[in-house]
Amino acid sequence: MRSYIPDFQLTTPSSLAGALSLLADEPGVWKPFAGGTDLMVLLEAGKLTHRNYVNIWNLNELRGIDVTDSHVTLGALTTYTDVQENQTLRNEFPMLCQAAGETGGLAIQNRGTLGGNIVNASPAADSPPALLAYDAEVELVSTRGSRWLPYHGFHTGYKQMSIRPDELLSRIRLPRNTIGAKHYYRKVGTRKAQAISKVCFAALGRTNNGLVDDVRIVVGSVAPIVVRCLQTENALLGQQPDSTTVKSAQASLLREISPIDDIRSTANYRLQVAANLLADFIATLKS
Ligand SMILES: Cc1cc2nc3c(=O)[nH]c(=O)nc-3n(C[C@H](O)[C@H](O)[C@H](O)COP(=O)(O)OP(=O)(O)OC[C@H]3O[C@@H](n4cnc5c(N)ncnc54)[C@H](O)[C@@H]3O)c2cc1C
Repeated sequence: MRSYIPDFQLTTPSSLAGALSLLADEPGVWKPFAGGTDLMVLLEAGKLTHRNYVNIWNLNELRGIDVTDSHVTLGALTTYTDVQENQTLRNEFPMLCQAAGETGGLAIQNRGTLGGNIVNASPAADSPPALLAYDAEVELVSTRGSRWLPYHGFHTGYKQMSIRPDELLSRIRLPRNTIGAKHYYRKVGTRKAQAISKVCFAALGRTNNGLVDDVRIVVGSVAPIVVRCLQTENALLGQQPDSTTVKSAQASLLREISPIDDIRSTANYRLQVAANLLADFIATLKS
């Protein structure tokens, strides 16, 4: 059933300061509305329980991709199209570009934002695995100032995260330390496009003298939050990327993820696919 539109309020401040004062004056009363691609689905289905929204789409302070020697910093309103068009991201953060290219269709890519993808906090979202594998940090702003947090640890449980009611997610920062690494991103869904992930796997690795010396492994759709698999990474570090290592890393991975049966897939299928993708990733480290 569709929602009754007069029940909802959408206000459009002209500046970031205006938006933050609104959030600070009545904490929890106003929630951000960015591209609206998650919120509008709930509205259409009559399932949008919150009523008051602050439209942040026009806030230029939350846009732009800034490149310095050490970092790439993306405004929270960066869309999937913006991501794919940025040459530095294409060269150094290809998994984020691939995630953006496999998110929804063109309309969603033009309107959906990275900030919205993060705060919507779906464990099946496609950009978080890439962002976690790239050691992203997120900036939260309020009238009290700004704080940067590692993105790893930001999500604390299903749809739970370290953001306060008066805060906006303003920027995402990626350290430029990926050159020379192997990047491996696979979204497994029912179709090649317009599918919600059954498993989403993002990994980055390097070898030195034939041994794994840097590795990051992240899997989505296999737990209440997207999981950075630190024990699996430890099982790989210092090892040759051979079949013995594959076996011990897979055993570790299966202990670290806890998928469920749901409308899109089964727990067993997700476990098997995650293990297969890990083996495939490790094989890329041989060359
Ligand atoms: C047809 C369709 C296909 C889709 N396909 C995919 C897909 O393949 N992969 C995928 O991951 N997602 C997909 N999505 C989901 C959605 O497009 C993404 O999650 C998108 O990135 C959400 O961004 P948004 O700006 O539209 O968020 P909104 O809908 O505006 O907001 C989502 C949530 O985030 C909060 N929020 C937004 N921005 C901020 C901010 N800066 N600070 C604090 N809170 C904020 C809002 O209050 C809300 O709770 C799809 C959606 C549709 C409708």
